[in-house]
Formats: sequence, C-alpha cells, structure tokens
Amino acid sequence: MKLLVATHNPGKVQEYRELLSELPADLVFPAELGLDIRVVESGDSFEENAVLKARAFSQASGFLTLADDSGLEVDTLGGAPGVRTARYAGHGASDADRYQLLLHNLEGVPWEARTARFRCVVALATPDGQLHTAEGRCEGVIALAPSGEHGFGYDPVFYMPEYGCTMAELDPAIKNRVSHRARAVQAAWPILEALLKSQQAG
Ligand code: IMP
Repeated sequence: MKLLVATHNPGKVQEYRELLSELPADLVFPAELGLDIRVVESGDSFEENAVLKARAFSQASGFLTLADDSGLEVDTLGGAPGVRTARYAGHGASDADRYQLLLHNLEGVPWEARTARFRCVVALATPDGQLHTAEGRCEGVIALAPSGEHGFGYDPVFYMPEYGCTMAELDPAIKNRVSHRARAVQAAWPILEALLKSQQAG
C-alpha cells in the first residue's frame, strides 16, 4: 500500500522517513509524483490547515495521504505565532529570519516567562473522503540565542529543559521520539494501520 506524505519541506521529509519507517506502507512524497500543489493555509487552526492539505493531496493523487500542520505557541505572546508560525516574518523570509524576529520580540522577557510549545496536527485523508486527525505537543522555553545545527525551522531557539539543550542540539533520533510531530504520529498510528488494512482489503 502507498501512503502519500504531503510535504515539500525537506526537514519534515527526513523526519517522516524515520517516523514512518516501521509502517507497512510504501511512502511516496509529492515531488516523486510531480505533484506541485501549494495549498493556501487559510484555516484558523492547525487542524483545519492539516485537513485542507491532506484532502487536496489525496484528491489529486488518489492515495491515502498524511499531511501535517505545525507551529509554535509562545505563552507571553498570547499563543502567537500559532497558525502564522510559517509566515511570521513575511513572505520570502528564511527560518533564521523567523526565529531572529521571535528573539527580537522577546527581548527583555525573563527566562521563566519564555515558555512555549510546538504543536503538530496530523491529518489522514482517504481518496473516498474519510478524514482523521491526531495531535502531538512538545513543551519548551524560547532560548536567549540560537544554538545547534540539527533539525529545521525554530529548532535552534527551542530549548528543552529536560535535555538541557535546544531541539537543534538534540540527537535527531531523540527529536524523533519526543517531538510534537513524533507524538502526533504515535497518536495517529492505530488509525493509520487500520486505514492501510481497509485500503488493502478494498
Ligand atoms: P508548517 O507546518 O509546514 O506550516 O510549518 C509551520 C512553521 O513551524 C514553519 O515555520 C516550520 O519551520 C515550523 N516548524 C514546524 N515543525 C517544526 C519543527 O519540528 N521544528 C522547528 N520548527 C518547526
């Protein structure tokens, strides 16, 4: 059975290859199918945006599809950037531009008030219109300065007190056990297995 993992983000592609390696499915990615769909993330929640992406890619490909939407909620910013995490520094900005803007907006905020979490919602869509979602979260603190080379996005400024380092300093194998995305995949796993089974039977 094929499972389309609907992301163009190279960091996510690498993580999903690991996270889904034990799944009895052949993973395919949009680039391999020549599917260059850009879904406008117009939803007000991670769930809505993940569903928009999963549905669009499943309908275009005819495959069972997994898509995610994720982002960072910073408590002292009232949960921002939230669903706007990818667009935080405007169009054409880099990962570094985004996390530097975040650090700038948190200047003077003391350590104990820099609490934050990554959230990830995974949506699963079947070509016949079934939809399921599952969520994972990862708690941390926004660091005072970036550090670390692994991962992607905001990883260099996401400090994890229980490991004493940023997500970008963490061994990628550990990130893949404890991240918001890892937890969303763990929560979605039984549904994924059931969907793969029923697609196979049908
Ligand atoms: P999206 O889920 O592709 O819309 O990404 C939302 C934003 O969150 C992007 O700026 C990503 O770089 C960032 N992001 C998503 N997942 C992670 C992660 O695991 N680590 C760091 N940043 C992430």
